[in-house]
Amino acid sequence: GILDAGSESDAELAFEGALRPKSLGEFVGQTKVRGQLELLLQAAAMQGRSADHILLAGPPGLGKTTLAMIVAHENGRSLRMSSGPAIQHAGDLAALLSSLLPGEVLFIDEIHRMARSAEEMLYLAMEDFRIDIMVGKGAGATSIPLELAPFTLVGATTRSGLLPNPLRDRFGFTAHLEFYDDAELTEVLRRAARLLGMPIDEAALTEIAGRSRGTPRIANRLLRRVRDYALVNAKDADLTSVRAALDLYDVDPLGLDRLDRAVLRAIIDRFDGGPVGLNTLAVSVGEEAETIESVVEPFLVRIGLLSRTPRGRVATKAAWRQFGGRAPQPTLL
Ligand code: ATP
Repeated sequence: GILDAGSESDAELAFEGALRPKSLGEFVGQTKVRGQLELLLQAAAMQGRSADHILLAGPPGLGKTTLAMIVAHENGRSLRMSSGPAIQHAGDLAALLSSLLPGEVLFIDEIHRMARSAEEMLYLAMEDFRIDIMVGKGAGATSIPLELAPFTLVGATTRSGLLPNPLRDRFGFTAHLEFYDDAELTEVLRRAARLLGMPIDEAALTEIAGRSRGTPRIANRLLRRVRDYALVNAKDADLTSVRAALDLYDVDPLGLDRLDRAVLRAIIDRFDGGPVGLNTLAVSVGEEAETIESVVEPFLVRIGLLSRTPRGRVATKAAWRQFGGRAPQPTLL
């Protein structure tokens, strides 16, 4: 349309949408989770019932939204999307639930951020496909039971530990999404380049994969920057172009970005390598604790630059080598 023409975020969204796998077969990696989902969906289909509720846990950009869409698609149902922050009152949830058609898949992103009052309503809805609607206040208040159409809830959260136990227990299956390895990311990129009709060589794909923090969404974003670079400079999308483009965007060879580096620098320069508490660290880099904990840390831990201890976050020896010369003596790590 006229209104959305050319806006960057719409362009990004369209780009992501075009690359989204539509079936489990097209979904790269996460072999374990894929097999588990396949079984769950097939069993439900054979029994002609809606599939069990599914919780998807893992850092952003690993394919939670994509999997929710696939669950709906493989069932031949439509997907209704909402998110925790959009559900601030039980009434918001009641409106959503009561409008579901039989067998629809309801996706709630960031489900850990839903209001407490809505959470309790959700327990009953998940278990019995019914809710109680409160009418009136005080002594005259009554609750009216409302039957819901059977549905499948797909919840997404950056960490399943953020959910209250009673909610977590009501999911039939929790999928823990892992970071992708370089071979899988190369496959994601090869597929994306093919869909975009973009010629790119194998060395270039491998280089982008290595800088993508184990995350398909980042891989696709970097691919787009490389495409821009090759286009503007009338170059091939080869290794040289990849390096030049990604250096331009401050994505280092390990895939660390500005915030990752700021976190490691702060631990090393300001807190002598740690241990430092999460909240202190968050304030010192000017970022929300939740972002540090669920976006930055999992990757830094995974590549061995940070460790979480009971007393706080600590920079590892490898991090000192990268960012701070020699670790202070004596060090316990
Ligand atoms: P968030 O939690 O931030 O919503 P997410 O985990 O839901 O992130 P998605 O939006 O599903 O991430 O995925 C981001 C993009 O990465 C999608 O556009 C999709 O093209 C691509 N992608 C994700 N997983 C895969 C995969 N396994 N194979 C191919 N492409 C993928």
